[in-house]
This record gives sequence, C-alpha cells and structure tokens, in this order.
Amino acid sequence: MAHNLQAVQRQLEKQVAATRFQQSKTIAIAKANAYGHSIEAAVRGFAAADGIGVIETEMLTRLRELDWHKELVLLEGFFEEADLEVLQATTATTAIHCQEQLDALQLLPEGANLKIMLKLNTGMNRLGFRPALLAQVLLQLERLKSQHKVAEVVMMMHFADADAPDRASVDHAWNEMRLVLRQFEVQLKQLGVVSLSVCNSAATLRYADELFLPNYQNIIRPGLCLYGASPMGNAEGQGALDFDLQPVMTLKAKIIAIQDVMANETVGYGSRFKATQKTRVAVVACGYADGYPRWAGALTPVVVNGKETHLVGRVSMDMMMINLNPVPDARVGDWVTLWGEGGPSIGRVTECAGVGSYETLCNLNQRVNKQII
Ligand SMILES: *Cc1c(COP(=O)(O)O)cnc(C)c1O
Repeated sequence: MAHNLQAVQRQLEKQVAATRFQQSKTIAIAKANAYGHSIEAAVRGFAAADGIGVIETEMLTRLRELDWHKELVLLEGFFEEADLEVLQATTATTAIHCQEQLDALQLLPEGANLKIMLKLNTGMNRLGFRPALLAQVLLQLERLKSQHKVAEVVMMMHFADADAPDRASVDHAWNEMRLVLRQFEVQLKQLGVVSLSVCNSAATLRYADELFLPNYQNIIRPGLCLYGASPMGNAEGQGALDFDLQPVMTLKAKIIAIQDVMANETVGYGSRFKATQKTRVAVVACGYADGYPRWAGALTPVVVNGKETHLVGRVSMDMMMINLNPVPDARVGDWVTLWGEGGPSIGRVTECAGVGSYETLCNLNQRVNKQII
C-alpha cells in the first residue's frame, strides 16, 4: 500500500507542474474495509497520505481509535442527525450532496466549524447538487459559515467514466465543473473555497495534467490503484504494472485432491470441461463462497509451484479444479496462487471472469484466513 501510494504520487509528479504537485493533497480511499484489505492495514499503509476517506460513519471513530490523526473524509456524507456528533468528535470532513444534509447542518451548535466537501452533480446523477441549484446552496453555506457551524468548504465532483476508453463523458463533466467555478467565482472566493477534489484512481492516473487547476489546491481521492489494481483492468498500456502498482492482496489455496482424468471424461458441475487427452486435474480448496468469481472462465490463470496453468470446468462453492499437466511435480498440499504476488494479477483474473477488480477484492468471504504482513 505504501509503495502504491508513492507510485501514484510519482505518476502525478510526472503529469503536473511542480508547485501544483507540492500543494496537492492525497486522501487515500479506504471504504469497505479498505477494499477488503482491512482498515488496520490501511492505517499503516497510508501513513504518508494526507487523509483517509471512508463511507461508514462508525469507521471514523475506529480510525481515531487506531491513532489516525490526519484528515478523515466521509465520502457520502452523513445519513442521520446523530452522525453529526461523530463528525464533530472525530473532526472529520463530510461530503454534502443534498438539501436534506444542508438542512441538518443548521442543527449544529455555533462554533462546530465542520469541514465540508460540497459535491456537485456533473452528470453521473448519483450524488450531488445540480449546477443550477448552486446559487441557493452557496447562500445557505454563507450563512452556516457566518454562524461558525461550517468552516472550510472544498468543491468536489466524481467521474462516472474516468476508466472508459472514450473520454467524452470526462470532458463533459469537467466542463460542467469549470463552468461552475467560473460562474460562481466571486461567491466561492467569499466562502473561502481554495480546494478542489476531482480525481479518483482512473482520473489521477490518466488526466491529472488537465484536471489540476492552477489556482486551486487539488485533492486527489485514489482508491483501487492503492490496492495494486488498475481501474482500466488489463487494458493495453494501462494495467497495474504500467503504473508501477504492486499487488497488495495475494489469494492462495491448497491442492486437496488430484484426479487423473481420461480423454472424453468431464470435470465438475455442468460437465463443462471435457478432457481431450489424459489430464491431471487438481482440486483446489477455494470457491465462489470464498469470494473467487463464480463465472471465471476455463482459461483463467493460476500459478502452482511457479508455473502458470488454468482452471478447468466451473468454479464450485468451495472448490475449483485446475489443469496440472504443465506442473507434473505438483502434489496434494501444494499452494496455488489465485492472484497477487507470484500469481496472476487481479486484473487478468477478473477479465477472464467478466467482473471487476473492485467487487472481487471486496467480496472475499469471512471464512478466508487473512494474514496481514
Ligand atoms: C470510492 C470513491 C473513490 C475512489 O474510487 P477509485 O475508483 O477506487 O479510485 C473516490 N471518490 C469517491 C467519492 C468514492 O466514493
């Protein structure tokens, strides 16, 4: 994690002017228990980041208990009034994306001085205020600020398609944002807005040169890339290795049985694999109940004793089968690396399964033994 944080910052340094790079801030995104890697690991791994961003209010308290003293950001904002107390107690920054949240801010005591990220809807239509509402919103914030209920305000947006090959959607969203910054320049200045938070992993790695505005402090919010996976998956020139990202999670399981399958015999549920020749097949103790993608295709790679081979047949709940012909020395008890260090990248595996690295990393089941090194 620490390496990847550095790698992302090096990518940034290559793209943007030195002064803009030095002034920028990095909020490492660690929602969903650090994308399945554990929040404890994130606290250590992201020690050099300026802040940590999460979705879960209770995680703010947990992070303070874990001695995270730097910034905290609640990315979706708060859901209930009671959360306002947690925000104050943890001195966290909260996203504000709807009128209901703005109304709730009125309940804060004067002097609460909450830090907020004002989220603009620039076309994703998930969270955020439409630009047309901004005049009203800024007036309300002005009032909250004069009452010292709100302190710092950061402008924030989120891309729907920063990972897509076609950049039209990014251009459209970014134009919306720039238009707003121009249109409300005076009001934003009056509110004391000096920071802008725009880039997720994909936008940081691909477009930071254009998305870093000179007259703002730019705050990046990388998530997936810090866990060693590229949001562009395995795309040519844009895979994890192309950005010098190293896998953080390694998933391994043991061979628990070996079958000598004759030509024309089949393997597993649905008899999806039919041997064309005599095939040594290993049964590996990991299945979709562990979080391995259920629909991983027959050519999904795995590594046994340093040699790459692939799945045969369907992944079942607790097991999967692999072809051992390329690894004649493999025995029951040997480890199979399903992804990560010494194995295939999560990007390759998920590509073969037609799923994303995001959900695959988050989906590991509780029963999987986790070792944090
Ligand atoms: C999850 C999240 C991110 C990080 O996205 P990645 O694609 O993993 O880099 C950034 N910003 C917000 C608001 C998020 O919810």
